[in-house]
Amino acid sequence: MTNAVLFQNANVIDGAGRAPFAASVLVSDGKIEAVGPEADARANHLARRIDRLDVAGRTLMPGLIDTHCHLAFDDAASNSEIFFQRRNALSALVAAYNAKKLLRAGVTGLLDPDSTFENMIDLRDAIEANVAEGPRMSCGSYALITAVGGTAGRLINDTGITGYYMAVRSKDEIVAEVRRQIKAGADWIKVHVTGVIPRLSHLGELCVWTDEELELITGTAHDLGTPVMGHCRGAGATYKAAKAGFDLIFHATGMDDRALEIIADKKIPISPALTFQANMVDFGERLGTDASLISLFEREITDSIETMQKAYKAGVPLLCGSESGFSMVPYGHWHYREMEVFVRYFGLTNLQAIECGTRNGAIGLKMPGKVGEIAPGMLADLIIVDGDPSKDVRILGEPGRIQQVMVNGDFKDISEPKTRRNIPGWRHAGMGLQLTREMAMSDGRLPAGSLHVEELH
Ligand SMILES: [Zn+2]
Repeated sequence: MTNAVLFQNANVIDGAGRAPFAASVLVSDGKIEAVGPEADARANHLARRIDRLDVAGRTLMPGLIDTHCHLAFDDAASNSEIFFQRRNALSALVAAYNAKKLLRAGVTGLLDPDSTFENMIDLRDAIEANVAEGPRMSCGSYALITAVGGTAGRLINDTGITGYYMAVRSKDEIVAEVRRQIKAGADWIKVHVTGVIPRLSHLGELCVWTDEELELITGTAHDLGTPVMGHCRGAGATYKAAKAGFDLIFHATGMDDRALEIIADKKIPISPALTFQANMVDFGERLGTDASLISLFEREITDSIETMQKAYKAGVPLLCGSESGFSMVPYGHWHYREMEVFVRYFGLTNLQAIECGTRNGAIGLKMPGKVGEIAPGMLADLIIVDGDPSKDVRILGEPGRIQQVMVNGDFKDISEPKTRRNIPGWRHAGMGLQLTREMAMSDGRLPAGSLHVEELH
């Protein structure tokens, strides 16, 4: 049995949208036992030892729940790196290292949609068993796709596994793979509902499934008590997924009236996961990204403003997801940022955005009503923040603001991890820029290339 903890003089943000209030919060046996005067009163009568923590001037709030974080991808700069350069056991070990970065950033829960070697199932179990330290996790296995592929075009094999994808080619394969993943321990079935066909990329992402196939996935999964989540870009795919009974939709960008109506009717949660795009918009130019690509990313956000606002007003839960795992959104840096996107683009208040990033996130953990909120009976996944994020959620991303992190009533080690060294053969080795004769013979300084010798092992 762990010690009980009484947080005193806290500025409490409860994660349920209530205005911040000053109160004590009592935690015992991994749960929030009482809030307010009741917490002080009960603390005085507890038979066992109690740690009293004066957190005056600081905020006590539920830990962040990132509902779109790929812990197995290791901040990859390309899909080919993930597909062809990774090893099974090492991926899981590296993910365990990275999981601590999430804790340091105040993330106490995450939904990992899909992973190489489906090894986030193993990391989840390791964290639950106290073998590894990290946030509370739920996860998918491989993302299901058809032979048309997902978002990596022809890099994806026509059959079987490529990186974090599994191609299924027939109804029999769909049923067998859904059942296999559930048996292997997947909390969710992840479906790449849309994909890009290289020669038809001007059409954007296309739905690569029939209605019947999507219904077969949800039917098979639901029969085994397992929800289904889908990557959907575009109105048609979002509509089809919603109609087929999907339980969570990622992105849902570019919805039309028909898609919005069914999402609103069924109150299907959406995790837009637009942090990647927001980073491109704000920092892409400094990274040398093409201006047309930057405006494409910006449109993906701005085109969705009206429909996301309507969905939110209709009571559709919006969840926060960072898409961390790629080099544009490295672990530990941007998990708060989806809340900023919701405030800046969708017009939510800071408190409403915090609710999306905490209480609503519990849906991604399959634990709504059990975590993500400060109220008696809730699991004690909490953070102490220097300052008041209800005034500006962006402070949650500032170094040093997250002062303590508690998961299940236990304080976590959030000290800086050991500096990581290069792992031979792990990263994608670029050969640098094209060295044309004209460039080589000119007097000017050559632009810096991207060749790193240590990556060429
Ligand atoms: Zn993703």
